[in-house]
Amino acid sequence: MSRQGTHLRISNWIQGRAIGPSSKAWFPKHNPHNGMILSYVPDSSAADVARAVESARKAFCFWREISAVQRGDILFRFVELMRENEKKLATCVAQETGKSPRDSLQEVQASIRQGQFFAGEGMRLHGRSLVSAVARKHSHTIRQPLGVAGLIVPANTPLANIAWKVFPALICGNTAVLKASEDAPATGNLFAEMGWRAGLPAGVLNVIHGRGSPAGSSLVENPEVDLISFTGSTQTGRWIAQTAGARLARVSLELGGKNPLVVCDDADLDHAVVWALSSAFSNAGQRCAAASRIFVFRKIYRAFCARLVRATERLKVGPQNGCDLGPVINSSSHRRILEAIAGAKKRGGKILTGGKPPKQPALRHGYYVEPTLVAGLPSHDVLNTDEIFGPVATLTEVADLEEAIRLANDCPYGLTAAIHTRSVDRAWEFVEHVRSGVANVNLGTHGSEPHMPFGGFGASGNGTREPGVEALDVYSELKTISFFRRGQIR
Ligand code: NAD
Repeated sequence: MSRQGTHLRISNWIQGRAIGPSSKAWFPKHNPHNGMILSYVPDSSAADVARAVESARKAFCFWREISAVQRGDILFRFVELMRENEKKLATCVAQETGKSPRDSLQEVQASIRQGQFFAGEGMRLHGRSLVSAVARKHSHTIRQPLGVAGLIVPANTPLANIAWKVFPALICGNTAVLKASEDAPATGNLFAEMGWRAGLPAGVLNVIHGRGSPAGSSLVENPEVDLISFTGSTQTGRWIAQTAGARLARVSLELGGKNPLVVCDDADLDHAVVWALSSAFSNAGQRCAAASRIFVFRKIYRAFCARLVRATERLKVGPQNGCDLGPVINSSSHRRILEAIAGAKKRGGKILTGGKPPKQPALRHGYYVEPTLVAGLPSHDVLNTDEIFGPVATLTEVADLEEAIRLANDCPYGLTAAIHTRSVDRAWEFVEHVRSGVANVNLGTHGSEPHMPFGGFGASGNGTREPGVEALDVYSELKTISFFRRGQIR
């Protein structure tokens, strides 16, 4: 780490050391709350990525030989250190994302849980015992690591996204090169340094910073990388699938969402409003699982909209504890979201509330957008089909459950979904027929807990599920081993 003027100059983390980019070029990372420069991010090149991959390749030779239980012991120490430093981690997350200290601390605690879960998997990294059609043949499966894992993450929940991938990758015996988000570089380094202090051998976890291209793309293209696990946009995911898929590398894609929340005419409306608010607007709507399409039964449409609009207008925008949502991550996201709202308005969308940056002088220079509800758009409108990744949700009136399910499914994404109803029949009909990897009843469109599989249909991914024990299938190869017992032993 060094300084550029008064600002922190971030380094890559390779072979247990902080190393600047070979280009000697850095670009600025801005504070989402006020637009000021927060730090400078290494503009890493393919050469820097190759160096990190080489470091991970070398470390793989011994990391894979350590027992999974011992790897788990190191990860438990790592998690302990995270717990001791949770305030420091939370401060870093809050600074880089603009979310409140309280929300940032919750993210750190969720990341710690993720680590605990996978550290424990070191004691359960078992296979299956199999029967054979051949007499005296005894078979079983074991899990083996793939090699070097390239892990690419976005900044919406920067620490949780990293924990989600690094812990399962390492417990399975892989070594890793993490491409941290250019919008949250310091969080990636702080995490890696804690791993190092906890006893991760040099080279087991490396961090590369930089732009999507060349830093991220070089990791995807590097033939020494055996597995790419990517969380990010569907557009980038599609390119990764083609590029890494061409050399038959393992690819796990956790992509975007356009998640429906349905409110039936028998729902508890106040309860539904609470969940609609947190689904649509928490983390400023920058959640793959955000409810960005809300479908409401005709009979209660006006009543529900009125309550939801009132509640939305009471939400507090800002970076402090007590605020409900902070800024979006960068200026280009900010511009894109405001343009999407303006476009919807031009196409006949009715802005029920929000639609612009907040007026408070203290927020004037930040990347803030008021929580926004838009009604009156057809289901094929881009605001109903494209992910906005900001605090914007549409409201659509539906006649009945059949129409709600049809419209919910009329979308390329299929990540999460929720329904609010008192009817078991309606609830069951919905969870069975909605096209999504997560389906909730009388909850929000939230989906992930460390021990639960998460992922989606269609444009939301490529069918893998992380985290949960299902992540072990992403980060390991199964080997089927058989023994033949020769005749009688005398
Ligand atoms: P993004 O695809 O632009 O970037 C994500 C990461 O990929 C960044 O680190 C970026 O530098 C890197 N990247 C960009 N281009 C690349 C390339 N050509 N090759 C390799 N790496 C590249 O996504 P974003 O806008 O930063 O993040 C938001 C997206 O992430 C949304 O679509 C959201 O739904 C999705 N997301 C999905 C999940 C999930 O679990 N399904 C969770 C969080 C976020």
